[in-house]
Amino acid sequence: MSTLFRHIPPVDQALAALCAEPSLAGEAFRSAPRPLLKDLVNAFLDLLREEIRAGAFSDAAQLALPALMPRMAAYVRQGLRPRFRRVLNATGVVVHTNMGRSLLAREAVEAVASAAAHYSNLEFDLATGERGSRYSHVEELLCRLTGAEAALVVNNNAAAVLIVLDTLCKGREVIVSRGQLVEIGGSFRIPEVMAKSGAVLREVGATNRTHLRDYESAITSDTAALMKVHTSNYRMTGFVKEVPLPELKALAGSYGLPVIEDLGSGSLLRFDGDGLPGEPTAQEAVADGADVVTFSGDKVLGGPQAGIIVGRREIIERIKKNQLNRALRIDKLTLAALEATLRLYLDPDLARKRVPTVAMMTASLVALRAQAARLAGLLRKHLTEALEIGVRAGASRVGGGAFPEADLPTALVCLKPRNISVEALRVALLSTDPPLVGRVEDDALCLDPRTLENSEHALVLSALRQVLAPKQDGE
Ligand SMILES: *Cc1c(COP(=O)(O)O)cnc(C)c1O
Repeated sequence: MSTLFRHIPPVDQALAALCAEPSLAGEAFRSAPRPLLKDLVNAFLDLLREEIRAGAFSDAAQLALPALMPRMAAYVRQGLRPRFRRVLNATGVVVHTNMGRSLLAREAVEAVASAAAHYSNLEFDLATGERGSRYSHVEELLCRLTGAEAALVVNNNAAAVLIVLDTLCKGREVIVSRGQLVEIGGSFRIPEVMAKSGAVLREVGATNRTHLRDYESAITSDTAALMKVHTSNYRMTGFVKEVPLPELKALAGSYGLPVIEDLGSGSLLRFDGDGLPGEPTAQEAVADGADVVTFSGDKVLGGPQAGIIVGRREIIERIKKNQLNRALRIDKLTLAALEATLRLYLDPDLARKRVPTVAMMTASLVALRAQAARLAGLLRKHLTEALEIGVRAGASRVGGGAFPEADLPTALVCLKPRNISVEALRVALLSTDPPLVGRVEDDALCLDPRTLENSEHALVLSALRQVLAPKQDGE
């Protein structure tokens, strides 16, 4: 055994051999950062030492570079993959926060690429040749789309809520209904964001019912604002009461106080006709009298991560001047994506077709059934020996804390592996290239075509093949 160790190739020779590979992979090795490549080769050689110790080799010839090459190349190629990478989302959850929320429209992707590769008029006024404002590029669009007087965009909606409270309510009280003290995804909680902003939360009402008189009797000389928070990720049903925005506005107005509304997801479109229950749009919140409205850019709006703030000019101007704004400001890539996305909304039909989040949310069952049949057909052609493949009715979700109760009817492609467990298949698919994420239901791995592009069906097949019908070493 000890003589076998001496036949392990030296790291420099192994590296040179890798880089001399004539294939496409060889090109990837040659252009990879050298230190990373060397670490991976060393790790591979360490693996060989362990295997020798475990008695995996009997013959020095097995340790010659040509014999090792296919395995070493595969090992290094795996290690060179970026940590942050594409996945196939077959969960049917459209705004999946763990998988990047919204996909950008093609127009937005192009705008991002251009802003990334070239200089731009980010803060440069082309009319005067002098310094301009980065917000001017989307402010007009946001005002036109929501009917607000002014607008500002920050890093995300959590930042939007923080800066609004910090600007308007620091050291003073904000009145919020007990039924609206929401927590989003574990880390965003209204009471905690409020504490950070230095505003003092004044809870009113009971968990299930809050009346106008509850707000009114809580108003004192310390009150800075009344706030409404959209209960985006839960629904209260039964014996419940919330005060509608127009009534809240009338009350606040008579005391000279502003009304802040955190819409959460906040869409610019209504989805009642698509079988989704009425959620208030940003323009409705503005029309109903909210003085400041905040919402996310990358939830149902389908744009980049951003926190959009629209409202009365005097208030927005104060927020723009807040020092926090410098820390929370959006970057040029976000701005490019946001402007391109918002432009699509100037024509609601265009937005429905081109904004992927909206298109997926409103996809027809007829179209989804056809896509499921197409995907199932493709998989049956190649994988019937390894899989039992069926199509059945199921439900997708909007996700991202929007439309929490709404089941979107869909058709699921359900896979039952013949030789491994469903759980083993699910886990193995997490390390394919690209990884494929489905969901396990009724002892099958279910793939929802709603969140897959048609062009991704071939990648789904490839991922399944990597697990169920792996090719020989070195392909
Ligand atoms: C999602 C959400 C937020 C946080 O928005 P991010 O864009 O994730 O920062 C805040 N408030 C409500 C009501 C939400 O639904």
